[in-house]
Amino acid sequence: MANYITERMETVVGDYQEFLAECIDVPKFLACCQQCDNYNIKWSCPPFEFDPMDIWHKYNKLRLYALVLRPSDEMGSAELVAALHSEKPGFDQRLSEMEAEHPGSLYLSGGSCALCSDCRRAQGQVCRYPDKLRYSIEALGGDVGKVCEKYFDKPILWVQDNKAPEYLMLIGGLLLP
Ligand code: SF4
Repeated sequence: MANYITERMETVVGDYQEFLAECIDVPKFLACCQQCDNYNIKWSCPPFEFDPMDIWHKYNKLRLYALVLRPSDEMGSAELVAALHSEKPGFDQRLSEMEAEHPGSLYLSGGSCALCSDCRRAQGQVCRYPDKLRYSIEALGGDVGKVCEKYFDKPILWVQDNKAPEYLMLIGGLLLP
């Protein structure tokens, strides 16, 4: 039995241009991505052969979607992080369904691509499922901390000192024409 509870949150960004101005900073978050193990290892992560702003500018609306995991008092940090990873396929599946329901939309994944256990980029090969590959908000230069505070009125929490925080979150969304 899962020893955490989940809560889904959705909101539509009211002013998309304001969102771009306040929450997207590609150079700043590229520098963060360079510190991550997935940098240049996964096709869903920087560096990209395209300008992430070209994706943001192709759309006019954004519907944000988040999943909050609240652990029980007994749940440890490693178990909570494992639970977050186990929720990701279902989270992305829901976003994929939303994309299918809205022609012309593109979903933003909750984190890096996990469709294959071994991303082909690490072997210098092309993506195995380019039609299924989706990018996260942060990979495209988004400040997810600011996004959560501004649109969900909630700070992003992380594991600190090996202690499970009050909650962890997956954040994604649907870009709409
Ligand atoms: S689908 Fe596979 S090869 Fe493509 S980005 Fe995802 S993990 Fe990498």
